Amino acid sequence: MLSFVLVAMLAGPFGEQPTPLGSKSDRLIRVYQQGVYSRELVLNLQRAVSRLLDGSGIALAFIDCEGQPICNEGLRRDELVLRLVSGLHPTDSTTCGMAFRGTPGRPGVLMSVYRGCVLKTSKQLRGLALSRTRSTVLLELTEADMLAPIVIHEVVHLLLPGEAHGLGIWQAVLAADDWERLGNGELKLGAELTSRVRAVFSAQAPATHADGR
Ligand SMILES: [Zn+2]
Repeated sequence: MLSFVLVAMLAGPFGEQPTPLGSKSDRLIRVYQQGVYSRELVLNLQRAVSRLLDGSGIALAFIDCEGQPICNEGLRRDELVLRLVSGLHPTDSTTCGMAFRGTPGRPGVLMSVYRGCVLKTSKQLRGLALSRTRSTVLLELTEADMLAPIVIHEVVHLLLPGEAHGLGIWQAVLAADDWERLGNGELKLGAELTSRVRAVFSAQAPATHADGR
């Protein structure tokens, strides 16, 4: 889970179209939006996540499931599901994202990210920047920039279910300092954690949609 606390808390950027279906990628993520639908948001999230993961050897490709027939097919082994919710977590407004861990032998595939939590966090960060308490780089963070590290964080929960929180994107809570680092392109996954995530990928060789099912 990734929570937000005002002074202590989390947030990234990239461009063009999402990775085309059937292209080679380490993980495909089906995106379902609950509440307000935004096509642009998925495109921008793809860019932001790709930018954050640049050089890590990890690639995530997002599929916007709105009206996408391929999303009616059974989930493949290399696919995860992201539910983008317009509002807040129903019982904890500080929870921006959570992953549903699976059971032994059956890894979890579902993560939920709450846009209302990101919006609330964004307003708080903007307030800090406008009052000159924090860097104005915070004013440049878009919603997709802020969603990106949250989504990556939850992906790590799904891929490494027993992993304890750590540094960078993998902190339990992101503080204003961290969002500033994000804005400056300095918030990443640690090298050691990155290599462990890559090991999961190589242990579960991904397939592509072009390969069939
Ligand atoms: Zn977490």
